[in-house]
Amino acid sequence: MRVSQMFIPTLREVPAEAEIASHKLMLRAGLMRKLASGIYSFLPLGYRVFRKIEQIVREEMDRAGAQELIMSALLPAEVYQASGRWEVFGPEMFRLKDRNGRDFCLGPTHEEIFTELVRNETRSYRSLPMTLYQIQTKYRDERRPRFGVMRSREFVMKDAYSFDRDEAGLDISYKKMHDAYCRAFDRCSLDYIVVDADTGAMGGSGSQEFMVKSEIGEAVIAFCEACGYAANDEKAQCIPDNECSSKECVAGRELPLEKVATPDVKTIEDLTEFFKCSPKEFAKTLIYQADNRVVAAMVRGDRELNETKLQNYLGCIELAMADAETVSGVTGAAVGFAGPVGLKVEIIVDPEVAGMKNFVIGANETGYHLKNVNIGRDFKASAVIDLRKITEGDKCPKCGAPVKVARGIEVGHIFKLGTKYSKALGCVYLDEAGKENPMVMGCYGIGINRTMAAVIEQNNDENGIIWPMSVAPYHVIIVPVNTTEPAQMEIAEKIYRDLQAAGIEVMLDDRNERPGVKFKDADLIGIPIRITVGKKAGEGIVEYKQRQAAGVADMSIEEALVRAKNEVLEALGR
Ligand code: ATP
Ligand code: MG
Repeated sequence: MRVSQMFIPTLREVPAEAEIASHKLMLRAGLMRKLASGIYSFLPLGYRVFRKIEQIVREEMDRAGAQELIMSALLPAEVYQASGRWEVFGPEMFRLKDRNGRDFCLGPTHEEIFTELVRNETRSYRSLPMTLYQIQTKYRDERRPRFGVMRSREFVMKDAYSFDRDEAGLDISYKKMHDAYCRAFDRCSLDYIVVDADTGAMGGSGSQEFMVKSEIGEAVIAFCEACGYAANDEKAQCIPDNECSSKECVAGRELPLEKVATPDVKTIEDLTEFFKCSPKEFAKTLIYQADNRVVAAMVRGDRELNETKLQNYLGCIELAMADAETVSGVTGAAVGFAGPVGLKVEIIVDPEVAGMKNFVIGANETGYHLKNVNIGRDFKASAVIDLRKITEGDKCPKCGAPVKVARGIEVGHIFKLGTKYSKALGCVYLDEAGKENPMVMGCYGIGINRTMAAVIEQNNDENGIIWPMSVAPYHVIIVPVNTTEPAQMEIAEKIYRDLQAAGIEVMLDDRNERPGVKFKDADLIGIPIRITVGKKAGEGIVEYKQRQAAGVADMSIEEALVRAKNEVLEALGR
């Protein structure tokens, strides 16, 4: 297409609201615009990329034998009420009523709707296994929409659902999806790792996430280079490190409880300073609001609490740190002095804390701490469960070697659901003996928008985006240096026609702009190959440049044509 006729509203300035590279570049390169918090419009260039990613995912789903269909985004409440998720989704679900007062939602994910469809239409074992999918818009009223389309409130998901007779069948369907995801993300040139994930509120027997390695990722992953173990931090099981260094601890005796005045000592740093010892000798008592109840959770002073682990244990819908008023309501003290002794709420304790002796905690009295605290003698835990976040160097739960910790962007998620939804909604099949059995299900999601942002996150430099050929909005951009020069334009037009005839997607920058402006734009929008037609055009020489490489090369028009065609077709595997 001719750039003079294209709608590509690029920006020179970095938009203030954008914090990460992909968000900045998607705005600057004119790929999208914001409509409201977490809601975006894709503009022509962005939509081309979006459709290519969608198409890659579609081809891999089809190759794996899944069948595409499309469902509505506007969904009746009843089926979500039947599964219990009308409540579970809480404020993340966009809800609305029709003119007759009937409840609806904008679908956040479609397990129930697919299960209901299959329940109504399929009865026999002969129809199984079956995997259905759609590429469709989802709505989630995220607590914190951020990073552009990385975490938005409206996004497109490829969601697939498999239906099998038994667990063994599910294992096969699941593996097919796993492999299809690997192929799709490989085709998008993403550097990703597959990690074990938490099955959380969804229930089910196993789950993995596809994580694109990135500093800005919101997910934390722990992996072991020794044995290949990889899990997200919500799932990663922590091995307690109970080697306590304090003298008292080593002695193993329980010392008498002491109340110590600690005015203005609130943080762990203040405490280590005051007590002149390591944060490993303190235990933090964190007060949480879990739906309607208040609970306390304890981890060692140098550890962080993993809220997903706590939430899974409590089975609550909403979990948040309690506000100052609630904290002083249950502890009788200002924030910073909470402790388990005498506390009248449920106290959930990490195994490391359970193994500590003679440690320091808040006294539930402003300005005081307790020393030489011992669990059992001084307070009782309601439960001892793994509550903490895994950290670099922790023991691998599989082999014991030290784990590494990195950040990742979750682009895909595959899940063995088992019979949770089929049982709740009565999705059964009749086996050879005519006996009814619940179908065994899996569900599988890829965020198309987030995948697009992740591709940019991994493929950019200070000048702009560097699209992998497979998802580039156009493969080649031709830049005539001087559009008023007929010789240059004639050659540019010829290259344009030739490449198009070969099935290559080409832009011709026919704008009457300075070459510097055109080069900057070509770099910003990240077209993989640039062919510049300049002064040497008269001698039949053009300049060839790959977006990801530094150098440029002069070559004959014919050579440039052959090279561009080969590079594009090879990258696309044609
Ligand atoms: P997250 O933990 O990041 O909120 P999730 O676990 O809620 O993700 P799933 O319900 O498994 O996500 O959805 C499947 C896929 O949909 C995710 O892997 C991701 O690619 C995409 N996705 C989920 N939420 C969003 C969002 N708010 N914006 C863009 N994409 C999303
Ligand atoms: Mg989410």
